[in-house]
Amino acid sequence: MNIILLGPPGAGKGTQASKLVSDRGMVQLSTGDMLRAAVKAGSPVGLKAKAVMDAGELVSDDIVSGIIGEALDALPIDTGVIFDGYPRTEAQALSLDGLLADRHRKLDHVIELEVDEDALVERITGRFTCAKCGAGYHDTFLTPKVDGVCDSCGSTEFKRRPDDNEETVRTRMAEYRGKTAPILPIYEARGLVSRVDGMASMEAVSAAINAILGT
Ligand code: AMP
Repeated sequence: MNIILLGPPGAGKGTQASKLVSDRGMVQLSTGDMLRAAVKAGSPVGLKAKAVMDAGELVSDDIVSGIIGEALDALPIDTGVIFDGYPRTEAQALSLDGLLADRHRKLDHVIELEVDEDALVERITGRFTCAKCGAGYHDTFLTPKVDGVCDSCGSTEFKRRPDDNEETVRTRMAEYRGKTAPILPIYEARGLVSRVDGMASMEAVSAAINAILGT
């Protein structure tokens, strides 16, 4: 099964993708995560992407489709894939069609997480993760049980994404509205789109996604 999770930044795509990875053994391909790893490693892709990401704008279609193609090549054909944060433009949606067809894969579902943008700004600007194990937290909604100590691994180091500030978040939202939301009709015409209320609890969103995917 190959699925796309679509929704503006902070809609919960990453959280739900992680849940599908642990519940169903699928693989999450997050272009945002892959680009952040490239920036950290200082690779040529990372060097090109950093300033664009810091500004909340979109990295070039060629770069992201290239990294998705390489990631797909590294997977066995029967591994289910969750595309998280890709495609984000019409050109990427068309590239994905080609990448999947070349690898004898087909797209099964496109799930859009519908959310209220103002609430998202609060969600995003408050989020942080454990620097060691990656567990996710929030200043208001999900603080560690012991202040300053990760519940999962006990680490006392945390980090925030540099692009999780209000100004950049507003740019990322505008990019979503202007370039990503317009790709939905492509998938609607193929009968692939389902919508889920992304403002519901994490558990309720997960249950709704599972109902769409079936057993
Ligand atoms: P994300 O973690 O999905 O919010 O992505 C963080 C940033 O990485 C975005 O604001 C973009 O700058 C870049 N990015 C991630 N995925 C894509 C994509 N599919 N196309 C273009 N840029 C992307």
